Amino acid sequence: MTASTLADYSTRVTPQGRAADPRQRPNNAGGYTFVASDEARLRRFLVLGADSGTFHVSARDAVVNNGDLVVSMACEDHALVLATILDVSLTGAAPKQNPTMFAYAVACSIGTETERGAALDAMPQIIRTGSHMLLFARYIENFRGWGRALRRAVGDWYAQKSADDLAYQAIKYRQRDGFAQRDMLRLAHPKATSPGHRAVYDFLCGRQTVQDARPGLLDAFIEVQADPSKAATLIRESALSWEMLPDAALTQAQTWDALLDRGMPLGALIRQLPRLTMLGLLPAMGGRTTDVVAAITDAERLRKARVHPMNVLVAQRTYASGHSLRGEARWTPNRKIADALDAAFYASFGSVAPTGKRTMLALDVSASMTWGTIAGLPITPREASAAMALVTAAVEPDVQIMGFGEKFVHVPISPRQRLDDSIKAIEAIRMGGTDCSVPMTFAQRKSIDVDTFVVYTDNETWAGAVHPHQALTAYRQSRGIDAKMAVVGMTATQCSIADPSDPGMLDIAGFDVSTPAVVSAFSAGV
Ligand code: CA
Repeated sequence: MTASTLADYSTRVTPQGRAADPRQRPNNAGGYTFVASDEARLRRFLVLGADSGTFHVSARDAVVNNGDLVVSMACEDHALVLATILDVSLTGAAPKQNPTMFAYAVACSIGTETERGAALDAMPQIIRTGSHMLLFARYIENFRGWGRALRRAVGDWYAQKSADDLAYQAIKYRQRDGFAQRDMLRLAHPKATSPGHRAVYDFLCGRQTVQDARPGLLDAFIEVQADPSKAATLIRESALSWEMLPDAALTQAQTWDALLDRGMPLGALIRQLPRLTMLGLLPAMGGRTTDVVAAITDAERLRKARVHPMNVLVAQRTYASGHSLRGEARWTPNRKIADALDAAFYASFGSVAPTGKRTMLALDVSASMTWGTIAGLPITPREASAAMALVTAAVEPDVQIMGFGEKFVHVPISPRQRLDDSIKAIEAIRMGGTDCSVPMTFAQRKSIDVDTFVVYTDNETWAGAVHPHQALTAYRQSRGIDAKMAVVGMTATQCSIADPSDPGMLDIAGFDVSTPAVVSAFSAGV
């Protein structure tokens, strides 16, 4: 062996195709990365989902990897799984409930009797709607049978609601993915704690009900099915939601006028903006435009309704495009509404404190980031990461946004642009390979002072001559700045470029509603 060969070996500069640390493992792209903690992986799964797979991992493997993770964690640290599910659920951290209900079904099925009991006891906190219940029912059968404890927990869920609440949940969410409320009654046999409960159960099972016993909402529901022309009147007199109305009523502007007068749930309102526009309720001036703008930009209401920014982002882009995803519906977007959705996106994260730190927001724009979806929604990891970066860029005074593939890329986005325009700009960038060390090596080479690097990536780095954590160490020494790196993981895999033993590096789940606040706290050092 010659001296020059030995001189090539270094623990400070290691090509990404080789492990730089014994704790590193091969990632899915041919490089080596650290393994994220189970807790970080669970959070990624709950927030991002696994259904679409990733550029490097098939959907089937992604589901198995994440399913295995939840099951093994439920065996080893059940309390942590349940606490994480509760936190994600109660803070509205995730855009979709499917992964949460899946993990909750595991927690109700695996572990000691006491642990499973603790999970079942948390049911009213985690399952808040009839829709959550139907989703849970679909998953639970993959892990356990309908034993006594499960029947009692589900039965109590129905029995302990008021008759009006029961009617609302059961009628609004009658069926989902092959499960109907009627199936739930058959499986769980809830007690009829009042004549109103009895009437709702009878109705769901297709039996005759007596008008006197019916909760008012059930009465209104039966009446509007029989005569859709009464919709507007009945909406004003009852809690009928749009999901409870026959199709004939949904094509009438007066129906939606009445729903707006009653106050629509914010999530539903945001999804229905194209329809309201097509029906002429949201003209450039007049109509309901001012009311709707006020409603969807009300930060307090957004927070209370747990409206997730990802859903606002998707709604913003769809609305501004003027057509539905497959183009079967077309409308002329009202600029005020498109702008209000843009504002609603930022507001839906709650308040994010500026740190004043010199912050580099580094977006992985490599090919793998353009593949797959976030939580099954029509948005790629790359588009979502651009939107995330803008949330921090909107509050931080000293910030630079950059992109990287195998080298530095100029990314022309700004919080002053509307989201749909920023997403168009990032879509136009084409990049192949991935080197997550670029933000640090670039800043070092250009002598840019950075306190915090925020790297939005799927962590599938492979193309660089130095590992990202090594590049950060070199940057710190070269600039004399104890710089930090927050890694925002945009896919539910096990890899991370963050060295878990370095407190200056942090793994965060991308598109968690709390992510900008967590990045801010980490950056500020609190
Ligand atoms: Ca990549």
